[in-house]
Amino acid sequence: MNYALVSGGSRGIGRAICVKLARQGFHVIINYNNNREAAIETQQLVEEVGGNAELLPFDVADEEQVNTALDRWCAQHPDEYISVLVNNAGIRRDTLMVFMSNDDWNDVLNTNLNGFFFLTRRLVKEMMTHRNGRIINIASLSGIKGQNGQLNYSAAKAALIGATKALAQEVGPRKITVNAVAPGFIATDMTKELDEASLKKLIPAGRFGEPEEVAAVVGFLASEEAAYINGEVISVNGGLYT
Ligand code: NAP
Repeated sequence: MNYALVSGGSRGIGRAICVKLARQGFHVIINYNNNREAAIETQQLVEEVGGNAELLPFDVADEEQVNTALDRWCAQHPDEYISVLVNNAGIRRDTLMVFMSNDDWNDVLNTNLNGFFFLTRRLVKEMMTHRNGRIINIASLSGIKGQNGQLNYSAAKAALIGATKALAQEVGPRKITVNAVAPGFIATDMTKELDEASLKKLIPAGRFGEPEEVAAVVGFLASEEAAYINGEVISVNGGLYT
């Protein structure tokens, strides 16, 4: 059995990634923070495409929760390991820097960046032992170009891209790849309050993207065929920025 863990798999892009990886034959571990109902819906969607999934709730920003949940999972699966990790859990707390509180800054860095660190450090060891693994980090266009009103989020996602490139070099010799996917505007809960009508005029494709369009790239990066792609950032943004 090949196991894939998707952080923030209960909704949006993470949900689409869970379904995509299930279609590719992975047993999916759906992480979420609060929204159990949505996570169960994702599990049902996985089962509808003939896959299997289990729920594993924890706050990615809380090191103790990450380690406790994964220690327990490993104890229950002594002969198995998680070969695909998708670091997708993320939040945004947008405001201009002059109005940005310490909490706005820390919450976004803790979830979007420290979450990647805690989870990846915990799982990469087993991947190294087995000389096999795929780590896929969901970054953002904001982490490439910077976005006004998103200083915290842009900083977290830019750091995630730097970490992706550094880790790719560290673990590449062990047949582990580490890549990032950088979405532009994707229609999810995270973007539902944005002014889509005016924003889509800026996008060459003339529309927001769908979560499945991000999941397609993640599915490819998780596959055997992507074994020679390492340390890359692949944008999925309708041509908004290349
Ligand atoms: P979303 O619809 O708001 O869903 C966020 C997901 O992350 C939920 O499953 C949520 O779990 C989970 N999550 C949040 N904080 C968590 C924590 N501390 N621990 C564990 N899980 C946590 O967001 P989305 O639009 O799908 O975004 C997914 C990723 O894509 C994020 O990293 C985001 O930054 C990135 N991204 C999104 C867009 C876009 O336009 N939507 C663009 C660029 C990048 P609960 O359901 O339990 O709350």
